[in-house]
Amino acid sequence: MSLHIMYNHQCPKCGAYYIPYKEDIPCPKCGFVEGDKADIVSEIVNSANYQMVCNGFYTPFAWYIGSFGDHVASMIFKVLDVFYKQDKKSFDEVSFEYFNDGEWGDQLYLKGHIIDLSKEVYKQIEKHKNDTVKQEGNH
Ligand SMILES: [Zn+2]
Repeated sequence: MSLHIMYNHQCPKCGAYYIPYKEDIPCPKCGFVEGDKADIVSEIVNSANYQMVCNGFYTPFAWYIGSFGDHVASMIFKVLDVFYKQDKKSFDEVSFEYFNDGEWGDQLYLKGHIIDLSKEVYKQIEKHKNDTVKQEGNH
């Protein structure tokens, strides 16, 4: 079982797929700022944490890509696993190297966007871990 990210979004101006995960995120292709936001970071974090609890790592065994959100989430799960398997580099370094080596084809415009999004997910995962430790400490 896995928690999917049922989310598709295209820029109204140029049609590029991307995720406005904060209000001021511009389209990574044409720079248009819609001003809308979708709370995808917390959905990806929930899904990642769920898999970590079930499997002990973030990348699901099988991950059906049913939406653009699923596609993005699967990339972020993989980079999280790459990061947590090592302890020499910062998440920023790992994310940059991992996605810089990726095969983007005609979606190269997404690279910086996905790197930024992965950093947001990482921050939330670390925050969630700290919150969980604090809660357990209070009991
Ligand atoms: Zn656009």
